[in-house]
Amino acid sequence: MDQFGRVFDYLRIAVTDRCNLRCIYCMPEEGIDFARNEQLLSRAEILRVIRIAARLGVRKIRYTGGEPLLRKDILELIRGASQTPGIDSIQLTTNGIFLTDQAAELRQAGLDGVNISLDTLDAAKFLKITRRTGVAQVLAGMRAALETGFSSVKINVVAMRGFNDDELGDFVALTKDAPITVRFIELMPFDAHQIWKTGRYFGFDMIRKDLMNLFPDLIPATGSATEGLVFQAPGHAGKVALIPAYTRSICSTCNRVRLTADGQIRNCLYSTTEHDLRAVLRNGGSDEDVAQLLKTAMWLKLKDGWDAQNEHDPGVTHHERESMTQIGG
Ligand code: SAM
Ligand code: SF4
Repeated sequence: MDQFGRVFDYLRIAVTDRCNLRCIYCMPEEGIDFARNEQLLSRAEILRVIRIAARLGVRKIRYTGGEPLLRKDILELIRGASQTPGIDSIQLTTNGIFLTDQAAELRQAGLDGVNISLDTLDAAKFLKITRRTGVAQVLAGMRAALETGFSSVKINVVAMRGFNDDELGDFVALTKDAPITVRFIELMPFDAHQIWKTGRYFGFDMIRKDLMNLFPDLIPATGSATEGLVFQAPGHAGKVALIPAYTRSICSTCNRVRLTADGQIRNCLYSTTEHDLRAVLRNGGSDEDVAQLLKTAMWLKLKDGWDAQNEHDPGVTHHERESMTQIGG
């Protein structure tokens, strides 16, 4: 719990900073300073953190990255989390390229749900944004996930003006027959190349306005703590959600703890203060030491992402990260 009474029962873990795609708002094409293998947390370290976090009250785990399906021991990581007393939900955020092949094994290992990132349904635009081909693979991955019977399948769409703002209707159409949630996410300024500054930003209120124009009779629905607004188009099986990732209007109900691929706790996406959990793990720290660091890191969480962004405390070391792959989306 923190000073503002927020309770953190959801741990997001970046299991690698590597990726098979190069989304323009996330990674540069070249010159990436990837973590060395020994800098990444090992499987034993990750599962130890999960055990301790579960004893403190964490119930939900999300594996992310980078691309978590590139991690060779992802099945063991899922199995280990699913066998941890107290953990009742294991989720994964993926670009979906490898899902067709892996969905069934992932489900068998204990994965409950997947969030698949897909910003366009158009092959040429997909190539532009990810600098790779693959839209058909991602859509096949989505179908495989639905057939596998995950309890939750969601599609993450980073909404960008002049890029996919003309595809809102096509994405909503995906929810017609499939019980998925399509989530439009505001672009965030976390890429070293600052695509963010090129006029692509498409804010929450504008996305909502455009959606309402297209679908005037959207019905309010319920969703997760990350989702600012949730709707359902009449007669549609799935839902549509908006995530105010930049406007930060949902910080008061934040329930998330982040662990970076190199083992740092971040109590907010916008904070540049990190708490070195890896050092505690590798310097012989006891379970109580690990628990204490988790509790302290979350107790120090500021009121919202704006305060976190504006914090310039000279007494702490600030870590500027160049990509969401390092922090974990
Ligand atoms: N590779 C996986 C994927 O793409 O789903 C997991 C990691 S990715 C960093 C997690 C999420 O962060 C994705 O949905 C991605 O679109 C989102 N993301 C990355 N950079 C972003 C940015 N600058 N603004 C908003 N969302 C971003
Ligand atoms: Fe890779 Fe995901 Fe970043 Fe795209 S958003 S480059 S798929 S980590």
